[in-house]
Amino acid sequence: MTRHTPFPAYGSCCRRLESEGGGNGVRSVRVWARLLGVVQAVVEDVEFDEVEQVLVVAVRPRKASRRRCGRCGRRCPGYDQGEGRRRWRALDLGTVRAFLEADSPRVRCVEHGVVAAQVPWARHGAGHTYAFDDTAAWLVTHCSKSAVRDLLRVAWRTVGSIVTRVVADAEASTDRFADLRRIGIDEISYKRGHKYLTVVVDHDSGVLLWAHPGRDTKTLERFFDRLGAQRCAQITLVSADAAEWIATVVADRCPNAELCLDPFHIVAWATKALDEVRRQVWNAARKGGQKTVARDLKNARFALWKNPEDLTERQTATLAGIAKTNAPLFRAYLLKEQLRQVFALKGAEGIALLDAWLKWAQRSRLPSFIKLARSIREHRAGIDAALTHGLSNARVESVNTKLRLLTRIAFGFRSAEALIALAMLDLGGLCPPLPSRAAA
Ligand SMILES: [Zn+2]
Repeated sequence: MTRHTPFPAYGSCCRRLESEGGGNGVRSVRVWARLLGVVQAVVEDVEFDEVEQVLVVAVRPRKASRRRCGRCGRRCPGYDQGEGRRRWRALDLGTVRAFLEADSPRVRCVEHGVVAAQVPWARHGAGHTYAFDDTAAWLVTHCSKSAVRDLLRVAWRTVGSIVTRVVADAEASTDRFADLRRIGIDEISYKRGHKYLTVVVDHDSGVLLWAHPGRDTKTLERFFDRLGAQRCAQITLVSADAAEWIATVVADRCPNAELCLDPFHIVAWATKALDEVRRQVWNAARKGGQKTVARDLKNARFALWKNPEDLTERQTATLAGIAKTNAPLFRAYLLKEQLRQVFALKGAEGIALLDAWLKWAQRSRLPSFIKLARSIREHRAGIDAALTHGLSNARVESVNTKLRLLTRIAFGFRSAEALIALAMLDLGGLCPPLPSRAAA
């Protein structure tokens, strides 16, 4: 080793692992740097702290004289020595916890004022090295919560901070919003329905593009703000449910986009209308003293809801009974089924069938279906667009299902930002490769 800095803090309890001087010393310095995954840095000393039972590796940036702002990387004049020496947790070496230790001077940046100088081995403000951060981020998308915590010996909240900065870093270095054409927008609830996230998914790649707390005009506008006017103009199709706030913002921000209403939601409206009819005839039977009819109708709920191909034999029989004895309810059932057929057909055939369906619903003498026909007419442009382009929100729903599972894992991060970062790692394609390995 060329230079030695003794650490008085450890006193006599430290055992020096490094031999001084000579060729072996220089070679082992490089080996240590490789082991720790540090680049652009010089290993000055390695010691084992017997008290803490940790390995402490003294390092300095290779170009220590050329200081840069920790936040923006701009070359800056030095300011002071900050709070002196500090440590960064590195990946364990074998069974031993390891730390890098270095000076932590401050610089004066024209934009950011007095800040800690950049170090080549860790992100700004991080207490862990790049290698540690990236390993934690990789593990969190591949292992259980307890496996990550136990293996890395960190608190779960620390993992939340790590994924947040890893994702912020990845977002800053890639433009994931280039060439977007077809997107899906949806919302998900978490914390038992007390909190919401607005979610945007790329239909072409299937990845989660963006998520933000809230479900209103202002929240969604943030996404289009990030996109910028030019890239907004490139969007051709947007799928969503019939939420007014989504339609308003899309119409306002994406001049060339067609809004496709999610077929699943439209069919859900029909299922709701059908259930209203079932409840009406059931109530009428109950009040009229027809006990058996009322009981049968109550039990018919699932037979009416299910897709015909999924019915059990018994449910098929129930349905046949309704066909014989209860004309209005059976008519409601057929209306629901035919609307489902509209979306199964898609394209021009689907649109033609929808025209016929609207006429049929209109004269069905079933108030809930007459009302449904009115809603469908109001949203006709969006529904026709969905039929023409065959775009549903299914991809968004599948991302949402996975996101819902992540909200449980993220429980304990205590910040929506960390939850979103975790989602971006796992569903947004932002998970870094393990240190020193090529991206998969
Ligand atoms: Zn700066």
